[in-house]
Parts: sequence; C-alpha cells; structure tokens
Amino acid sequence: MAQLEIHQFPTRSDNYGVLIHDPERGATAAIDAPDAEELLAALHEKGWALTHILTTHHHHDHTAGNTIVKRMTGCTIVGPAREADSIPGIDVEVKEGDSVEIGSTTARVIETPGHTRGHVSYLFPEDGIVCVGDTLFSVGCGKLLEGDAKTMWRSLQKLMALPAETQLYCGHEYTRANTKFALTVEPDNAELQARAVEAEELVKRREPALPTTIARELATNPFLRPASPEIQKRLGMEGRELWEIFGETRRRKDRF
Ligand code: ZN
Ligand code: FE
Repeated sequence: MAQLEIHQFPTRSDNYGVLIHDPERGATAAIDAPDAEELLAALHEKGWALTHILTTHHHHDHTAGNTIVKRMTGCTIVGPAREADSIPGIDVEVKEGDSVEIGSTTARVIETPGHTRGHVSYLFPEDGIVCVGDTLFSVGCGKLLEGDAKTMWRSLQKLMALPAETQLYCGHEYTRANTKFALTVEPDNAELQARAVEAEELVKRREPALPTTIARELATNPFLRPASPEIQKRLGMEGRELWEIFGETRRRKDRF
C-alpha cells in the first residue's frame, strides 16, 4: 500500500479542512466540507480529484460545502446514519465499525457522540491517522451540545485507547486558548507548561498545532486526564467517577 498524502488547510473562520489522498488509486477524501469554494481551491492546488466527503457531524460549519462540492466533483458523501436527516447530499450512512474504502486504504467508523448525538470519527488503522471532527481538540474537546458528560466520556475513551502514535486531525484549532484553561486545572503539569509555550510560538509563526497525537493529548489534555490527582484535587473531586470529573472540567471550560 502506498503512503497516503495529507493536506491540511485553514478554512472558514477557525475550521481546518483535511484532504487524504491515495496516490496509488487516485482516490481523495475530504474530512467534512466546511466551505465549498475553499475546498475546491485546495483540491485544485493539489491536483487531486475528490472521491469522498467523510462527514463527522451535521453542524453547518462541517457540511455547508456538501451540495456544491458534490455537484462539482460527483463525490460520494458519507456520514453518520443517526444524523442522516440533517446532512445535505448524504449517499452512504455509516455506523460503529463500518468500513469505507478510500482507494487502497480503509477508513473505519468510530461513533463518538457527545458534541452532537450522532458524531462519528474516521480511523485509518493502516495509516495511523484518526479524524475526530469536534469530539477532541488539541488540549480541548467539543462542547456537549447534544450529549451528556457520560456519553462524551465514553467517546473520548475510545479515542484514548488508540495506539499512542496515532496522528489526530481535528475540525478546529484553539490550542493557545485551550492551554490557558488547562493550566487552571493542572498548573503543575510540566508537559502542559511546555505545550503552552510552544503554542505561543506557533501562533507567532502562524503555524497550526495540528495534527497532534494521542500520546500528546493523553499527557496534556485535561479532558482526557480526570484520573490526574492534581486535577481531582483542584476540582475537589478526589475519588469520584471519571466521567463526573470530566463533566465538571467541561463545565468549568464553558464558563472560562
Ligand atoms: Zn460542531
Ligand atoms: Fe465545528
């Protein structure tokens, strides 16, 4: 199997677009279609023909480009069965464990509800890549708009169980702001302190902090660290259920 080529580009106000290209078969998948014009421009720049849109969830900033991009490219739109009614142009409805062939590689569907009730992530197990939409961010996680803390925690645990070196692509980037919040709940985490410094540098150089990795998030992302004694102590929640501690961390971030 040939090495996949990945192209990540900023789109809309704070979204990231991702193109995954298999040079062997000439297949290309876009993770979501935030903006038609910017997605088509990115494809043109790379000289890649779009075969699939892999939709993570129904929000407008992830699906606004669907109709036009499908008309212009004839691509197949894949998306979560549980949100099919609100995903424009959906052709293939997917559930937990389903596989989608992208040229010579395979994307596996992981249901990660919480941000929305049907949100899915796409794992490329052979390539060590996972695209998580608005479930997990660099040093952050999605807001609980259509799910509760227990549901989201279950979703995050599925991502935490992936191989540590897995490259993580997200729908947005808020790393600098996220590290500021994270330091309020785990100020003594040395790796987090280092990431906060690095995030400032990246912003100055106008470079994205994405992709990140499962290992880095496990070490620094407060939403994956409810087991951290320091976080438990800060929150006054020693020994409580991990999903409850996660939920309280998420509430504090909402008010931050
Ligand atoms: Zn969203
Ligand atoms: Fe979003």
